Amino acid sequence: MPHVVTEPCSGCKNTVCVTVCPVNCFHEDKRMLVIDPDECIDCGACVPECPTKAILPAIRVPPKWKYFIALNAENSKTLPLITAQRKPLK
Ligand code: SF4
Ligand code: SF4
Repeated sequence: MPHVVTEPCSGCKNTVCVTVCPVNCFHEDKRMLVIDPDECIDCGACVPECPTKAILPAIRVPPKWKYFIALNAENSKTLPLITAQRKPLK
């Protein structure tokens, strides 16, 4: 099961997470990042880096955020890749 970016990421864009991902699987829109489940190797390196605890293994995503699993999979197909840290939104 891949890792998934969930609700607390919205409006963060701290993006430190992308600096530790060995396979460049983060993509971004204006408000948040998503993980491409086909690229994620489930290494878990991004989890402790995320200040909002937004990244979870898919199997541990709580029911209220389950829709983020499909959202990450769908949106990562079309959103641009992000591989370098940028200025946070907040
Ligand atoms: S560090 Fe966490 S909250 Fe910030 S952009 Fe990355 S996944 Fe989102
Ligand atoms: S779990 Fe590993 S491979 Fe997956 S997004 Fe995080 S750092 Fe990248």
